[in-house]
Amino acid sequence: MDKTVELVTKLVMEALRTGDTSKSSSNNLSANNSNEGFMVPVGVSARHIHLTQEDIETLYGKGYQLTKKKELMGGQFAANETVTIVGLKLRAIENVRILGPARKESQVEVSMTDAVKLGIKAPVRDSGDIKGSAPIAIVGPKGVLYLKEGCIIAKRHIHMSPEDAQKAGVKDGDIVSVKVDNERGTTFNEVKIRVHETFTTEMHLDTDEANAAKIQCGQLVRIIK
Ligand SMILES: [Zn+2]
Repeated sequence: MDKTVELVTKLVMEALRTGDTSKSSSNNLSANNSNEGFMVPVGVSARHIHLTQEDIETLYGKGYQLTKKKELMGGQFAANETVTIVGLKLRAIENVRILGPARKESQVEVSMTDAVKLGIKAPVRDSGDIKGSAPIAIVGPKGVLYLKEGCIIAKRHIHMSPEDAQKAGVKDGDIVSVKVDNERGTTFNEVKIRVHETFTTEMHLDTDEANAAKIQCGQLVRIIK
């Protein structure tokens, strides 16, 4: 009996200690700026979908217009509307956020974990490059849509303003490496630089990448090239 109490106490103490460690480490992140390399904040992209106006109307009804929940960079917005996505094995993921405005082609962006759950072979691609990507079904309140292609895992990338790109010594289309200075110490390779005057500087990772590197929205990472 005493032994059990002792063991539980030890576990609780361990949990508290670990919690403290992670807290102090994330606080140090922005201060740990002594090494070379341009620092950028991270934005974690949850699974989401871009739709054509035609596909919005298939899912939500004739003449339907998306409504804004939150403004994003580059004139995009997170819509209040969500859909359910269904893979070939009829496994579904609910509450997938629609990003507006309507696009020329519909596209679903998921994590690798999502792709495994859905039973689909989604390739890693730049946003908009959907040729030959995975098929997926989409369910809305007023209808269902089947995309023969369009489901991808987004290639990790950094949005940059032209000024920041110049300061960092990179240009649109460059591929760089990025280091995360925390206790996981992850380095991400194959990170694409995307420069546009409507962009605020931010690195976009999906939920798998962020969780594996133990990084959250707003934390700073270093471009090491
Ligand atoms: Zn992005």
